[in-house]
Amino acid sequence: MKDNKIQFCTRCLYSSQHALGITFDKQGLCSGCIIHDEKNNLNWNYRIEKLKKLIKPYKSKSRKTYDCIVPVSGSNDSHYIVHIVKNILNLNPLLVHYNKYFNTPIGISNLANLRIKFDADIISKNVNMNSIKKIVKHTFFEYQNIYWHILAGHSVFPLEVAIKYKVPLIIWGAHQGLEQVGMFSHEHEVEMTRRYREDHDLFGIEADKLLQLENELKEEDIWQFRYPDDKQIHSIGVRGIYLGNYIRWDPTAQHKMMIKKYNFKSAKLPRTFDTYDHIDCFNYMNIHDKLKIFKRGYSKITDHVCREIRHGRLNRHEGVSLIKYYESQKIENLDLFCEWLGISKNSMNFLLNRSRNKKFWIEKDLNNFKFQGPSVHMHKKQFSLNYEKKLKNKISNNFIATDFTKLKESKNFYMFYGKGIN
Ligand SMILES: [Zn+2]
Repeated sequence: MKDNKIQFCTRCLYSSQHALGITFDKQGLCSGCIIHDEKNNLNWNYRIEKLKKLIKPYKSKSRKTYDCIVPVSGSNDSHYIVHIVKNILNLNPLLVHYNKYFNTPIGISNLANLRIKFDADIISKNVNMNSIKKIVKHTFFEYQNIYWHILAGHSVFPLEVAIKYKVPLIIWGAHQGLEQVGMFSHEHEVEMTRRYREDHDLFGIEADKLLQLENELKEEDIWQFRYPDDKQIHSIGVRGIYLGNYIRWDPTAQHKMMIKKYNFKSAKLPRTFDTYDHIDCFNYMNIHDKLKIFKRGYSKITDHVCREIRHGRLNRHEGVSLIKYYESQKIENLDLFCEWLGISKNSMNFLLNRSRNKKFWIEKDLNNFKFQGPSVHMHKKQFSLNYEKKLKNKISNNFIATDFTKLKESKNFYMFYGKGIN
């Protein structure tokens, strides 16, 4: 690939601009598609038996303690993971939940559903709101990222609980680096590491780094996000495994199954057709997604389209149409975020524009930008009117949205799980 040329995978629509790094073989197939093909070739019966053997030593004979820790949220595979852990692996899990503060009513409802339907114990961590606001402000201003505290909290809290309760096994769903860009083979059976968390989840910013810059943050604001030291981790023998290495991972099919079996609730979002991912958050598919396209040149819709192409449920042309349509959709709930953070709309617009990567956004005039991201180089086929309708029907069969018309709140507000309302 030449430096200034974007290369696309010949099957999915990921390009050489992928944030996690991607490679292509001689035929132009991306590393993510190559590893995805393992899903159709591996012996999954053998792999689940392997998993059962792996977890056997962790089962408590006395039943007086937990067998494993499962990090959960109000969306993103949590129901399916707990279903596998309880019903297939017969483990007694302790569910752990990190309060992200941008909670939607659907997310809170799903979380309640999770602990009721699976009759599981759950611990939730609520870091004080002042520290969270300071962190969000700082990571947004400095790194154009509002999700740092959520990714850091969600990955540290399970470890803290594992150490405190002396429960060494943490069970996660799929590994993002494997699923999106084929960073590892399923057969590598990769486990949770401090390194991957820092490099990819936290984009190289560990908690202590937040203290090194001049800002309002102090030790008391960030200590809860520090990864436990190796001595503590090794004294308990904590390990974090990914179910996706042992079970053929297909989030769309899994969520549909969870709706049917456990009444998991789903919702329509403005910038994707996926009604299951990140529906517990007011900001992920809104301002966070906008920041992604400003910085990276592509947004979450590309991830969803590539996943569906690989599973054979969308073709390339449909994918191009969907990416072009959804990535240009307006975001919602920005007022709510400005109000929560205590920042004016004007300052917000200034900060958003400042986050635009010059590689993907050319400033024509003041505040007038021309988009040059990967999707500009995708060729959109001209289709009949019926085509759009057919595509919409195809999508809505796979992505069910719960009808909330009767339950809808008159005004949106963040649900402060376990903390009352601000
Ligand atoms: Zn590909």
